[in-house]
Amino acid sequence: MWCERSNSVISVEDWQKACLKAQTQAINSHLKLIQCKWLTRTDLTPTLLNKSDPDTSDVCVKCGAKGTLIHCLWKHPQIQTVWTEVLNVLSFITGVKIKLCITHNYTLLCVSWDFFPVECKLNTENKKMTVYCLLQAKHNMADTCKSISRPSLQAWLASLSNSLVLEKPAFMIRGKYSTFKKIWKIFLLFLEGENATEALLT
Ligand SMILES: [Zn+2]
Repeated sequence: MWCERSNSVISVEDWQKACLKAQTQAINSHLKLIQCKWLTRTDLTPTLLNKSDPDTSDVCVKCGAKGTLIHCLWKHPQIQTVWTEVLNVLSFITGVKIKLCITHNYTLLCVSWDFFPVECKLNTENKKMTVYCLLQAKHNMADTCKSISRPSLQAWLASLSNSLVLEKPAFMIRGKYSTFKKIWKIFLLFLEGENATEALLT
């Protein structure tokens, strides 16, 4: 329905892909739920709150622009800066300069998939880790949507650390602990080492 409101065209294939990704990119049920909210446009952004209560402002408290989901998660200037910082940290961890190839439909659907440029040198495990880390970053951005403060990198890394506490046993129960280690080894080494401070300061 929001597709009609925004005069956008999303193919059935893209919808199916987004819905599938929303349920499979993370085991953490909180991250699954937030992706469903983004897809169905039920996350409580200023514009949505204003629809249910006209006395509530529909603008972004940080800059005064209309507080749509796309604005809160992508277009707001501070959020653009946070995305750059997040990508810098992930590039530092993986040793590969990560640039995203943001498509029209990706931006509209707000669910991550297939946004690595074809020339991207990340291996499959590092791509999975990067997608998860970006998903967590987006979740943190949604959390600060109605706050004057911008999401911090420290809070993002702390959220990731907490999420991995839930992901690890889920992999183990499925007999896939080796897969967990392949995906998260470099990130966990980064968190444990002094490099974390270095990456956050650069
Ligand atoms: Zn704003």
